[in-house]
Amino acid sequence: MYDVLIIGAGPAGMYSSYIAKMHKLNVKLIESSNEYGGQMLLFKDKPVYDMPGFTNVNGSDILNSLKKQLDSSEVNIFLNEKILDIKGEYPNFEVKTNKSVLKTKTILFTTGGGIFEPIKIGLNSEEYSNINYYIEDYKKYKDKNIVIFGGGDSAVDWAHFLKSIAKKVTIVHRRNDFRAQERLLDELRKSILILTPFKVESFVGEKNVSQINLINVKTKEIKKILCDEVLVFFGNKKINVKENTFNLEMIDSYFIVSPNMETSRNGIYAAGNISTYKGKIKVLSTAFGESSTAIGSIVSKIFPGKLMSYISNKKKD
Ligand code: NAP
Repeated sequence: MYDVLIIGAGPAGMYSSYIAKMHKLNVKLIESSNEYGGQMLLFKDKPVYDMPGFTNVNGSDILNSLKKQLDSSEVNIFLNEKILDIKGEYPNFEVKTNKSVLKTKTILFTTGGGIFEPIKIGLNSEEYSNINYYIEDYKKYKDKNIVIFGGGDSAVDWAHFLKSIAKKVTIVHRRNDFRAQERLLDELRKSILILTPFKVESFVGEKNVSQINLINVKTKEIKKILCDEVLVFFGNKKINVKENTFNLEMIDSYFIVSPNMETSRNGIYAAGNISTYKGKIKVLSTAFGESSTAIGSIVSKIFPGKLMSYISNKKKD
């Protein structure tokens, strides 16, 4: 039984988890996509000018610091875990995810701009167990022949990481141009096979794909490549939030919260961009403030006798 299940590992979810651990809450942080960081991933190279204490800091630095904080408090981020249903009520929620059923006293939504899931490669890919959209344990790829699909930072970062432990790494991308950082890509061009502009024509194999037939998008040339493992990094797509309202009152796609960040359902909270209230401003500094408020409220709800000096309406005697 968790004290709080935090849904969404963007800045608000990561910071909330850290604060929850400071209050010794039993916390689980899940993220539906294969990458933590939420919308900050879109600002990784952009300067952020309104962070308290910094005249100029970029998104990557903020995310790296948040991750360091989380690591220091030993909070894991469970990637690719998406909630499907919430049953029960405070303090006995049962949250069904695509991986398990989680029992928790409270829930904090920090899903930011929405809930995301990996874009699939299609065809009959669901039939094969060696086609993956994230890496749970990189050791599985040791000495394997790996084919990576995609031309973004995820594909290039992982290719760069895996090439030192794998037998062979090949990147397949549908265009000759990449979205990923040029510096790493230049290094990879010298050390691994990069096939462009190719896409999958068909997969061959029984339970596992052992051969991929590729087609050149321009010339229609067919190329057959062998593989032990396939990794697909096509980015993430947004799931329609309106289908996932969980009986919470909303304005547009945002959960309405009271001043203590609680939604219309007792024991379910929201912080960061997914929450809304009169006067709401969507910036990082308010998301962090809302995270502190939400966790403070959760602590005082679960442990009514616990003294917290910063909760203004709490009596100290
Ligand atoms: P991404 O940047 O959206 O790249 C997805 C790649 O997959 C693109 O190259 C795209 O091709 C290709 N693709 C998508 N759908 C496809 C399809 N149906 N068939 C063939 N190819 C397809 O996704 P990502 O790499 O996961 O990154 C997501 C965000 O996280 C980005 O903002 C990225 O910069 C960030 N990120 C940052 C880091 C870092 O800072 N080091 C690491 C990982 C991710 P096209 O290019 O042709 O559209």
